[in-house]
Amino acid sequence: MTTTNLRNSAPLAGAAVPPVPFGTDVPWTNWGRNQCATPAFTVRPQTEQEALDAVRFAIKEGLPVRAVGSGHSSSPLVQTGGVLMEMSAMTGITGTDKGGRRARALAGTTISAFGDPLWEQGLALGNQGDIDKQQIAGALSTSTHGSGKDLGSFSSSLRWVRLINGHGEIVEIGEGQLRELRAAQVALGTLGIFLEVELAVEDSYYLQEQITYPSWAKTAATWNADIANNRHYSLLWCPGEGSAELLDLPGSPGQNMTNHSYTKRYNIVQIQDESEISRTEGSRLDRSYRIYPGGFTTPFHELEYFVPTEHGLAATEAIQELIRTRHPDQKYPVEVRWVNADDGYMSQFQGRDTTVITLTTEPGTDYWPFFRDADALLQDFEPRAHWGKIHFMTRSRLERLYPELDTFIQIRREFDPRGVFLNDHTRALVG
Ligand SMILES: Cc1cc2nc3c(=O)[nH]c(=O)nc-3n(C[C@H](O)[C@H](O)[C@H](O)COP(=O)(O)OP(=O)(O)OC[C@H]3O[C@@H](n4cnc5c(N)ncnc54)[C@H](O)[C@@H]3O)c2cc1C
Repeated sequence: MTTTNLRNSAPLAGAAVPPVPFGTDVPWTNWGRNQCATPAFTVRPQTEQEALDAVRFAIKEGLPVRAVGSGHSSSPLVQTGGVLMEMSAMTGITGTDKGGRRARALAGTTISAFGDPLWEQGLALGNQGDIDKQQIAGALSTSTHGSGKDLGSFSSSLRWVRLINGHGEIVEIGEGQLRELRAAQVALGTLGIFLEVELAVEDSYYLQEQITYPSWAKTAATWNADIANNRHYSLLWCPGEGSAELLDLPGSPGQNMTNHSYTKRYNIVQIQDESEISRTEGSRLDRSYRIYPGGFTTPFHELEYFVPTEHGLAATEAIQELIRTRHPDQKYPVEVRWVNADDGYMSQFQGRDTTVITLTTEPGTDYWPFFRDADALLQDFEPRAHWGKIHFMTRSRLERLYPELDTFIQIRREFDPRGVFLNDHTRALVG
């Protein structure tokens, strides 16, 4: 590990306040409005030095520290009563390597901010999820993913990171430190404050979209072929009338979608020039980064579980049966996606090709019985959970599900022996 020595900060003599601009008791809430906190200090570092000064202040004062990205996680990852590091000022692409297909960016860079600058260098992110509002460090910290049987999560593309650890040092982890890199790939914010990251990226590419609305019987009949024959395949199964409208699914089929799927296929196409670009809903053809993101604006709450791909169809049909028989009030579409296996110790995709099942519910309603039943039902399929969404994971479950949990915890303790970067939620899971 390389340590970069930066100058020691000069704290205000005798003043127990951060030596960088801060606010006190500033309330924080997440995008879904189901998580909130009132940190003692909220800092918005503009530079590495300010971030370092804030962490050193917290260590000196015995305060915990958590970073926040775009606040799109609905699990209690961000809460702290100590120092909240709001990273949105540390943004921008810091370098690209066209031949090596790499891009570096500051940690607060949103996924959307990769699009144009990478494209100008002939590069693009290899895959993206349903939105592009997340900061890259936030997306990496929870193994945010898109869909595609051969495509990994954002975390699987992390090749280097520069971060502030719990000793109050700036350190770098690269491919020469695979043990630490696999911990950093999905760290839930517990290794330290990410400052800058390097990702493996792809040559720029255009995607052709194809949206269809098959019955569930047809969806199930072509399940394996659809997964195998498309770069991106994903679907939203609609339990009832009005389901598609709840998520504003574009390209309305103009039909009752009860027990039908809204399926998305994105495949790479070569074009002569950009006059061929099409923005026709349901059959768009455009630069990759313009095709992936949807535009969800109305808050919802989600539980997202990950099962081995061989159980994907059975697990999805079990959830359908649960909705029909016990929770007919649940009308949001059930989203199903696929992600390639990877090596991150705390990655939901660690060691297994995965089918992702996402249950969406309406804020303000009592969705807990539905989520609890789904959690119990899916236990037959050894489910892992999205770290950034509502889940019921406990330490004992993690011990069964993550073969490298002990290695991760050991590395986390090396990086942060005092537990500066833990909150109650993460301490219970990986403390
Ligand atoms: C509408 C919506 C759509 C979504 N779509 C998808 C999807 O398609 N696929 C998917 O997988 N997920 C999806 N998510 C979940 C989302 O991608 C994750 O919750 C992601 O972690 C949010 O990123 P963020 O920048 O908002 O991070 P936050 O939620 O703010 O933080 C997440 C974690 O990252 C840590 N963190 C943030 N910045 C840093 C830093 N600089 N250093 C260290 N740690 C840091 C935080 O401490 C926290 O632990 C969606 C969520 C919403 C609300």
